[in-house]
Amino acid sequence: MQITNVRNKLILFPVAPYDVVNKEEIVGEQSVTDGKIVIPSEGSDAAGLPSPMIDPFGRSVTYLRVSVTDRCDFRCVYCMAEDMTFLPKREVLSLEELDRLCTAFVEKGVRKLRLTGGEPLVRKNIMSLIRSLGRHLESGALEELTITTNGSQLARYANELYECGIRRINVSIDTLDAQKFKAVTRWGNLGKVMDGIRAATDAGLKVKINMVALKDVNEHEIVPMLQWCHEQGHDLTLIETMPLGEIDGDRTDQYLPLSTVRAGLAEKFTLTDIPYKTGGPARYVTIEETGGRLGFITPLTHNFCESCNRVRITCTGQLYMCLGQDDMADLREPLRASEGNDLLNNAIDEAIGRKPKGHDFVIDRKSRQPAVARHMSVTGG
Ligand code: SAM
Ligand code: SF4
Repeated sequence: MQITNVRNKLILFPVAPYDVVNKEEIVGEQSVTDGKIVIPSEGSDAAGLPSPMIDPFGRSVTYLRVSVTDRCDFRCVYCMAEDMTFLPKREVLSLEELDRLCTAFVEKGVRKLRLTGGEPLVRKNIMSLIRSLGRHLESGALEELTITTNGSQLARYANELYECGIRRINVSIDTLDAQKFKAVTRWGNLGKVMDGIRAATDAGLKVKINMVALKDVNEHEIVPMLQWCHEQGHDLTLIETMPLGEIDGDRTDQYLPLSTVRAGLAEKFTLTDIPYKTGGPARYVTIEETGGRLGFITPLTHNFCESCNRVRITCTGQLYMCLGQDDMADLREPLRASEGNDLLNNAIDEAIGRKPKGHDFVIDRKSRQPAVARHMSVTGG
């Protein structure tokens, strides 16, 4: 009997525990790949990919978001205070450690990996991590590798991102008015971001725009943003501001429920709900008049926890099972404690076993404290 151990063939990425054998000699659960038959063994699915991690509420955890740095070249008003104190560099995982950690999750069934931050593209040598993680796309273990970026460095990196296997990116812009953009981001330059988006599109990357809806700040710019995005062929996702971390102001002043926004849009446009999914929490509609897609991320007005497939890792290796809860597991210690992954894998399994049912976000005048003390830039948006 000719048995080829696929594990040994994929030296860079020891994907799933499955064997390929001659067709005639198969019994039991099986599938055919290139004339060969793949028998899933324990811990793998019929395609030979690792079975996903399952949390206590039966949800498969297949999506990992990794904050590769807490630093940023912007200071968006809803995200950071202007005089943020960042982590000392020694606390932050090295690029090699981040690679090892991401790979451990891929081996545990994660199929979508998003690098975020802070601003992922300001981390020194970030492209070496992205290039290295691209091997999981080549092996088929990962369906998608992507980033969320403020776009400031995109002109420089767009082609390389495409070469590494990235096909879609999220770019955050809250306004198309250059002065207002400066006011919202404090340090950002809209022209540079627009150049970055053009470079990304020219490189072949599909761009989705993320816009945080802010009362009195950009609520009247949602329609122009929608029209611009759809003219350019970009999807647009609107996000409700979430109570994460102290900022220099009152979040109640910023909070704009997307239920109100949607009702307003429905007076001008024909919105049709569609089942389109990108692996994240957004619910999508099509806009008949523009022919484009619009997503809503509504953690406050419509909690999406029941279908949550995500966990997040901070740049110091803390695993957060929910963006809106304080419980976390430290993965840096087991990662650094030994070269093998046994300790790390145990810590991951234990943490997934206590993924909570949902978050407790609320924004009102009574609860002035943020729901969680850490900023979005720490856990990664
Ligand atoms: N710097 C990158 C960027 O801005 O796209 C990636 C990190 S940023 C934390 C990720 C996303 O989170 C951005 O779209 C940002 O607008 C959003 N965000 C940050 N703070 C938020 C908050 N308190 N509530 C809702 N969204 C927030
Ligand atoms: Fe930086 Fe993104 Fe936060 Fe803005 S939202 S301060 S760009 S991390």
